[in-house]
Amino acid sequence: MDLTALGDAVLAGRRGEIAKAITLVESTRSDHREQAQQLLLRLLPHAGGAIRVGITGVPGVGKSTTIEALGMYLISLGHKVAVLAVDPSSTRTGGSILGDKTRMQNLSVEPNAFIRPSPTSGTLGGVAKATRETMVLIEAAGYDVILVETVGVGQSEVTVANMVDTFTFLTLARTGDQLQGIKKGVLELADIVTVNKADGKHATEAKAAARELAGALRLIYPHDALWKPPVLTMSALENVGVDKFWDEVLRHRKVLGDAGELERKRHQQQVDWTWSMVHDQLLRRLDSDPAVRAIRGDVEQQVRDGSLTAALAAKTILDTFDK
Ligand code: GDP
Repeated sequence: MDLTALGDAVLAGRRGEIAKAITLVESTRSDHREQAQQLLLRLLPHAGGAIRVGITGVPGVGKSTTIEALGMYLISLGHKVAVLAVDPSSTRTGGSILGDKTRMQNLSVEPNAFIRPSPTSGTLGGVAKATRETMVLIEAAGYDVILVETVGVGQSEVTVANMVDTFTFLTLARTGDQLQGIKKGVLELADIVTVNKADGKHATEAKAAARELAGALRLIYPHDALWKPPVLTMSALENVGVDKFWDEVLRHRKVLGDAGELERKRHQQQVDWTWSMVHDQLLRRLDSDPAVRAIRGDVEQQVRDGSLTAALAAKTILDTFDK
């Protein structure tokens, strides 16, 4: 493969080649991985320029509808918008449910939008790695806004929060006891909380829910916190509040940027990413280590029949791996 030509084509923003380059970074073949790293090294100096926004929320909350409305709004402002998805569950079903072009009908035919469904390369770690590397390609290709969609499954929210500048949480009007149903973890990750479907007969309910959520958030954040996540209401379907949502994203960037936090956050994300790759690769090596494979059946059997404790078995496996 001519990596120089591919790199040039990505820099020129040629869609076919961008897709090809993404397929390369998603590949698990070792020769592809090496080529992908060469390509990324070449493109890295041209990356980093996009506003990176994560969008999470349960299925049905309106993520696709929001991305469609927000994407079209951003394009009208002159932006080039990429939509990526992190959906590790799609690796089980064999097909991605997110970032699906049919769900973003206007955006998918926009020349200034690039939509890519979630990679299906196995673990969340694998999906995250491919997505981060895709972000480098997309930024090098000149896209200046990246929207990363994820459904709140397991660790995927933390993973996406760790690859974006602004992490946003979409929810529906929930008050009182229903508030308990919202995972506390996701509120702690969110930079902006938005109550969607604030239209029709739900408009009042949505405002009340937003007030209650704002109260819950006040308990999480100290008075002097640099950024206190605002709670907005929006109707993605009727395109009401989408512009305000974007204004808050920009305000968040400005507050963080002025305090030097945006740069620090991005640098810390690189360090965290480094370690998460070390952890993933260690696990892969452990699983494929011939010496460990040779003893694992025996060790597992001894744990089952009670002749070895779990702790001693773990030590035996790790000692074997260390050698
Ligand atoms: P996702 O699964 O989070 O991506 O949710 P979708 O964007 O696919 O939306 C799920 C359903 O909710 C669809 O039928 C949408 O038309 C509807 N929906 C999305 N946003 C709104 C909204 O702001 N108001 C109303 N009333 N319906 C909405």
